[in-house]
Amino acid sequence: MLFETEFNYHDEECAPQCWVLFKGDKILTLENKGQVVLSDVELDKLKLKPVRQQYLGRLNDRSYYVGELAADKAAPEGVLFYDLRRLLGQVPDDLFSLAGKAYHLLHWDRTHQYCGGCGVPTENKIDEVAKICPACGLIKYPRISPAIIVAIIKDNQILLAQGRQFRGYFYIAYITIS
Ligand SMILES: [Zn+2]
Repeated sequence: MLFETEFNYHDEECAPQCWVLFKGDKILTLENKGQVVLSDVELDKLKLKPVRQQYLGRLNDRSYYVGELAADKAAPEGVLFYDLRRLLGQVPDDLFSLAGKAYHLLHWDRTHQYCGGCGVPTENKIDEVAKICPACGLIKYPRISPAIIVAIIKDNQILLAQGRQFRGYFYIAYITIS
């Protein structure tokens, strides 16, 4: 089932909650399972309390949230903070997509805590994924970076790319237009 983005909290439908957690640019994973999604129970057990959170949406009838841990939060035993890109190919595609969305929303949330027009603390809009300034009404949305994906094929062969930090080959070349 594909991940469904939502912007509203539905309290009566939220349980059980699932969490994707970040500390800075690193995603939290459980060392022994390579697991990036944690339940409320696991959060309590590991004494992890996000300092900021955003609702992401639903996947397989579960509600997902992204949370940011304090920068000085030490990793509990059995927990690693991992570079998100290194998870590519290590977790199912739907979870990698969800983790990417989580990182994007969290970064936007972190950098839009105050109005760019008048400096007043912003609030989450309740009817869309956006921040609104209660003083001047300025609305800010998560940035969208348009991109295209291409496969370069010649004589029944495909161009592959390999990065220094990645052992395998990518079969997709991509260009981001900003
Ligand atoms: Zn303002």
